[in-house]
Amino acid sequence: MKEIILAKNGEIALKGLNRRKFEEVLMRNIKWRLRDFGKISLSCMQSTIYIAPEDSAFYDFDGAIDALRHVFGIASISRAIVLEKSMEDILSHVCDYVENDLFDAKTFKVEAKRSDKHFPLTSPQISAEVGGKILSRFHHLKVDVHNPDVTVMVEIRDRGAYIHAGKIPGAGGMPVSSSGEAMLLISGGIDSPVAAYMMAKRGLALSTIHFQSPPYTSERALEKVVTLCEKLTPYTGRLAFYCVPFTEIQEALREHCPEELFTVMMRRMMMRIATRIAQEKNIPALVTGESLAQVASQTLDALYCTDNATPLVVLRPLIGMDKGEIIRISRDIGTFETSILPYEDCCTVFTPRHPCTKPKLSVLEKAEARFDYAPLIEKAVADTQLRMITG
Ligand code: ATP
Ligand code: MG
Repeated sequence: MKEIILAKNGEIALKGLNRRKFEEVLMRNIKWRLRDFGKISLSCMQSTIYIAPEDSAFYDFDGAIDALRHVFGIASISRAIVLEKSMEDILSHVCDYVENDLFDAKTFKVEAKRSDKHFPLTSPQISAEVGGKILSRFHHLKVDVHNPDVTVMVEIRDRGAYIHAGKIPGAGGMPVSSSGEAMLLISGGIDSPVAAYMMAKRGLALSTIHFQSPPYTSERALEKVVTLCEKLTPYTGRLAFYCVPFTEIQEALREHCPEELFTVMMRRMMMRIATRIAQEKNIPALVTGESLAQVASQTLDALYCTDNATPLVVLRPLIGMDKGEIIRISRDIGTFETSILPYEDCCTVFTPRHPCTKPKLSVLEKAEARFDYAPLIEKAVADTQLRMITG
């Protein structure tokens, strides 16, 4: 008995001539995610990716399906038995194969799909025959075509017949890296990991950059951010992690800048450094976890001033979201518990008592002209350390 996994494409299925390119990216991502589960062969037909383990009797289907549930670009996942395209083969295997799924059910229905139109029976005829077979074997079941506990699917496709007991929802979205790449500014907080998840879902590959300020921020604070990146990799794939020493810049800002402008000036410095590193890697966009009006540095005026420090596109997927909504996603993706660990971030180190909520670009530029920050930026870029986080 041979089993496979069918992963149905989501939004990709709607793409026109480019579809093949998206499918190839998705297959590459699936291969990467399943790399530790043993040999598989992958192919794509009719908006479905066929994942066939070389040795299906010993394959960890549950583990692989759990991994696939995090892969963007997949609408639904099914574990299916592969049969010959004959009613005889289908009827002789269906009951044994779906027995466990039907054990607790009270109602079921059979849904047949026949993309191979040469198959002699129509879809309603297939459903009726298979349904009759199941009823004759499992006397506790009733048919409910509207709201069944279990749907038994029979799919007659080009390469064979497949039976499975329903679909597991996939992560949706677009395959990571099919939309290009961006640099995520990641803190240890709740928001930026959620921003990573949301942009990866739209098909962006991500690199990450983190600013640390030792000795004001600890090694444990840094490790917390690395842990957050590790927790993101099931969704994002492997992440480049750039760690920037930021202490000297913060100290210079404290010395030379009006206190109430400190945060927004610091954010402009972060943008400049992130831009430098992104441009070296040909990365055209930055991502932040900012949300409008959440804190003083996230007012419209402050965001305008922050944007002005970079020529790159700045993506802020959380801009219109409430904290409650962000927390819900953070819990769902498993980053919340790490995010709330109480380690300091460089942003909290020199927080002004009364931050300016309506900064003016001209005032900021004047304040920045009071000291020569360019060499400090060069030094921070030169001292940046890179780690690869594979998860
Ligand atoms: P988060 O929960 O992501 O920390 P926040 O609500 O605490 O966000 P801020 O501290 O103002 O907000 O930071 C806004 C954004 O700036 C963050 O979402 C992140 O993208 C970026 N950022 C803040 N601190 C750092 C840091 N130390 N390193 C890299 N990026 C940072
Ligand atoms: Mg923060």
